[in-house]
Amino acid sequence: MNTQPSTTSAAVAAAPHPPQAPAAAFTLPPLPYADYALEPVISADTVRLHHTKHQKGYVDTLNRLVVDTPFADLSLEQIIQSTAGKPEHLELFENAAQAWNHALYWNSLTPGGGGVPPRALRVRIDSAFGGVEALKEELRTAATKQFGSGWVWLVLEGTRLRVVKTANAENPLSAQMKPLLTIDVWEHAYYLDFQNRRADHVNAVIDKLINWEFAAENLASDPGGNHGEGDPGAAQRFNDGQIRFVASARGAKKIRDGAAVRPEEEAALEKAARLGKARAKGQDPAISSAAPAINSKDKNTT
Ligand code: MN
Repeated sequence: MNTQPSTTSAAVAAAPHPPQAPAAAFTLPPLPYADYALEPVISADTVRLHHTKHQKGYVDTLNRLVVDTPFADLSLEQIIQSTAGKPEHLELFENAAQAWNHALYWNSLTPGGGGVPPRALRVRIDSAFGGVEALKEELRTAATKQFGSGWVWLVLEGTRLRVVKTANAENPLSAQMKPLLTIDVWEHAYYLDFQNRRADHVNAVIDKLINWEFAAENLASDPGGNHGEGDPGAAQRFNDGQIRFVASARGAKKIRDGAAVRPEEEAALEKAARLGKARAKGQDPAISSAAPAINSKDKNTT
C-alpha cells in the first residue's frame, strides 16, 4: 500500500541496499527544520528528546526486530499492513507504526504554521466540516478525548475528509484511510512544556504550528481517494483474511496459546531479537557486518 504521503515517503522508506547486503535498515528521518524552530510552543528540548530518543528508539527496535525475517524485505507501510491486528506481531507493528507516525508528525508541523489552509484544502474542509473553525474544534475534541497515549489525524476516507483518533501506535493506514496530517498526543510530545495541560498544547499547535500546506499536498497527491498500490483491493483482502483467521477457531486457539501462526517466521523473529540484543552489547561478531550500515545511516541522519 502506497499510502505514505509523498513528502515523507523517501525519508522513511527502507534504505536501498546492494545485492547480498544484510537486511534492509530503516533510517531515522532528519527533522524538516531546526530543533528550536517550533518554539515557544514546543521547546528545543522536547523536540530533541522526541526525535533522538523516542522516535529513534522505535526505528532502532524496528531494525532489530526485522533482521533475518521475511519482514526485512518489506516497506514500512507493508510491514504495518501485514502486522496490524495480529497479536503475535504486536511489537513489530507498534515500532513500525510509531516510526511511520512520527515521520508524518514532524511534517504536520511547521514554524509559522496555523492560519488559513490553501484554497483547495479549504473547499474540502468546508464541505466536510462546515468550515475551518469547525475542523479545528474536532481536532481539539479528538485530542482531549483520546484517553491515554495516541494520535489525532486528519484523513481522507474515500473522497471525504474526516478527523479520527487512535490509541498508542495505531494509525489509520490499516483502515484504508489516507492520513493528511497528525498530532502526537503522547505525553512525551508536550509534558516538558505544558506538563499535564494537553488541551493547551493542542490549541497552541493548531493555532501556531499546524502545517496546512503539507495536508494540502497530501490531498493533491491523491485527489480521487484511491490510495491503493497497483491493486487497491489487495490490502483489503489481506485484512479481511486476517479478520477471518482471528475469528476462526484455529486462529483463536493460536492467539490464546500465544503460539506461532507461522513457526519458522516466529523462530526467525526470536533469533533476530536475540541477535539484536547481542549486537547492542557488541557481543556477536556474526552480525557485525550489518551494524555499520545501520550505524552509518543513523549518523547521517541524526
Ligand atoms: Mn511521539
